[in-house]
Amino acid sequence: MRMRKCKKMNLLFKKCPVCAEGRLQIKKVEKLLHGGVHTAVVKVSAEVCTHCGERLYPPDVITRFETIRSRLKQDKLSGFRITGKTVVVA
Ligand SMILES: [Zn+2]
Repeated sequence: MRMRKCKKMNLLFKKCPVCAEGRLQIKKVEKLLHGGVHTAVVKVSAEVCTHCGERLYPPDVITRFETIRSRLKQDKLSGFRITGKTVVVA
């Protein structure tokens, strides 16, 4: 029997680096990004700890976050879908 390598996302860690208890599972998560007065909701795959809930993002996703944050700061929202308003509750 030949083993086929599947093209799954490689896990960055086997165990959670934060609590060292949980295992990491790849999940689709919503990340909130703030830049200036704007907030963006980004749906990405992250490794989520089954124990403490810590999320770990791969480097390319973090780069994407930075790009989005700087666009929010500069008020460059073209290409983003505007949905409702974000409110702050004290
Ligand atoms: Zn953990």
